[in-house]
Amino acid sequence: MEIIKNYIDGTLVEPKSGAYLDNFNPATGQVYSQIPDSAEEDVNDAVKAAKLAYPSWSKTAKETRSEILAKIAMLIEKNLDRLALAESMDNGKPVSLAKQVDIPRAATNFNFFATAILHYASESHAMENGVINYTLREPIGVAGCISPWNLPLYLFTWKIAPALAAGNTVVAKPSEVTPMTAFLLSELCIEAGLPAGVLNIVHGLGNKVGAAITTHPDIPMISFTGGTATGAQIAKEAAPMFKKLSLELGGKNPNIIFADCDFEKMLQVTLKSSFSNQGEICLCGSRIFIEKPLYEKFKTAFVEATEKLKVGNPQSGDSDLGAIVSEEHMDKILSYIELAKEEGGSILAGGNRVSLSGEQEKGWYLEPTIIEGLGHECRTNQEEIFGPVVTLIPFDSEEEVIEMANSTKYGLSSTIWTKDLNTAHRVAENLHVGIAWINCWLLRDLRTPFGGTKSSGVGREGGFEALHFFTEPKNVCIKY
Ligand code: NAD
Repeated sequence: MEIIKNYIDGTLVEPKSGAYLDNFNPATGQVYSQIPDSAEEDVNDAVKAAKLAYPSWSKTAKETRSEILAKIAMLIEKNLDRLALAESMDNGKPVSLAKQVDIPRAATNFNFFATAILHYASESHAMENGVINYTLREPIGVAGCISPWNLPLYLFTWKIAPALAAGNTVVAKPSEVTPMTAFLLSELCIEAGLPAGVLNIVHGLGNKVGAAITTHPDIPMISFTGGTATGAQIAKEAAPMFKKLSLELGGKNPNIIFADCDFEKMLQVTLKSSFSNQGEICLCGSRIFIEKPLYEKFKTAFVEATEKLKVGNPQSGDSDLGAIVSEEHMDKILSYIELAKEEGGSILAGGNRVSLSGEQEKGWYLEPTIIEGLGHECRTNQEEIFGPVVTLIPFDSEEEVIEMANSTKYGLSSTIWTKDLNTAHRVAENLHVGIAWINCWLLRDLRTPFGGTKSSGVGREGGFEALHFFTEPKNVCIKY
C-alpha cells in the first residue's frame, strides 16, 4: 500500500502526528493508499520553509524560474502514463480522459506560465512636465493554493504554476479525496531541482490543513477552487486579515439549444458537456434548455445516445464514464435524483447505481441520467449536483430562456447553440456568466480570463489575470 508523504522544505516527510487517512480507489471501493492526516503544525513547518525560500526565489532571474518550471512540465510529460493511471485510480475517471486531458493540461500549465512570465510587462504613465509613473508588479510572499478533487493535478498546477512563475513561494493542499498525483508531482519537483521550500505540499482534511492555510498570518493570498460553501467559509476567515482572494466555485451551467443549430454537432458536444468526467466538471452544462420546435427530436436522439454510453472500469479503454469519486458523493447525487422525482420530474434515462462484477463489484458507478418535466425554479434546477445528471427544459423565446438561465445563484459558464450570430452574441451578452461558449464547449485558450460571477466566484484565473493576482502592483512616480 502506497504511503503518501508531505513535501516540506524540499523533502518528503511524514505528518508530525504520524496519523494517516484512508485513500480509496472509487473503481473498486477499496482502500489502496494512505494520506497524511496533517494538522496546523505541519502547515506551520511548510510556511516556515516557504518564508525562508522566498527572498532567494523572488530574486531569482525569471529566466531561471522559467527553466525550472519548464523542466517540471517536461517531467510530467515524460511520466504521462504513470500519472494518468494514478489520476484514474484516485478519482475514478477513465484513464483515457486523464491521458488526453488532465495530465497533458498539467504539463501545459507549467509550460504556459514558464513562458508567460517572460512576456509579463508592466505599464508606465507619463505626465506633463517631466513626470513618469511606472508600475512595479512584485511577488507578494507565500501563496496558499487549495484545490478540489474533480480535475486533481490539472487544477492544482493551474494555481501553483503562476504563483511560482511570478516569484512567490507556495504552500499548497490538494483535495484529501484525490491526493496521489500531487504527491507524485512533489517527487518530480525534487527531480527537476526546484529549490527547497519553494513549493510545499501539505496533505489532509479541509477543516484542518485548509483552514490552517486560510488563517495563517504569513500567507497573504489564497487561491481556492472548490465548492461555494467552502469558498464562503474561506472568505469569512480571510477577509478580516485582508488577504488577497481568488475563488473559483460551483456552477449550475445552462446549455441553451436553439432550433436552428447544427444538430449533429450540438448533439455530439452536448453528450460531452453533460457526462464527461461523470459530469464532475464545474463547466458541465447541467440544465439543458431546448427551443420548443426542436424539443422532441433532441429528446429522442439525446436519450438514445446517452443509453449507448458505457459505464465501466475506468482502466478499460472503452468506458465512457468511470466511477464517481466517493461513496459520499455518489449518495449525494442519488439523493438529488430522488429529489427530482419528488419534485415531479420524469427520468428519461438512467437514474440508478450501476453494479459491475469482479474487482469493480464494490465500485461507485452511476448511470448517466436525464430528467424532464421540472420547472426552472425547483431545487433540482437550482442546486449544484456535480454528477452525471442533466435536466431538459423547453423554451419559447430568447427572453424566456435568458431569464431561466440567469435564475440560479451561480454564474460560471454557459453554452449556446445557434447558427444565428446575432442571437448568439445577444444571448452571450445577457447571460450572467464568466464564460460563454458558442457552438462549442470547453475550448480553452489559457490566455483568456477564467472564472465565475455571483456565487461561482470572485476574481479571474488564466493568462496575465493570474500573474496580476499573484503580484502586487506598486506605482512609482518620478519627476526629473
Ligand atoms: P470542497 O469545497 O469540498 O473542497 C475543495 C478543497 O477545499 C479541498 O482541498 C478541501 O479539502 C478544501 N477545504 C474544505 N474545507 C475547507 C476549509 N474550511 N478551509 C479551507 N479549505 C477547505 O470542493 P470539492 O468537493 O473538492 O470540489 C467540488 C466543487 O468544486 C464543486 O462545487 C465544483 O463546482 C467546484 N469546482 C469549481 C471549479 C471552478 O473553476 N469554478 C473547478 C472545479 C471544481
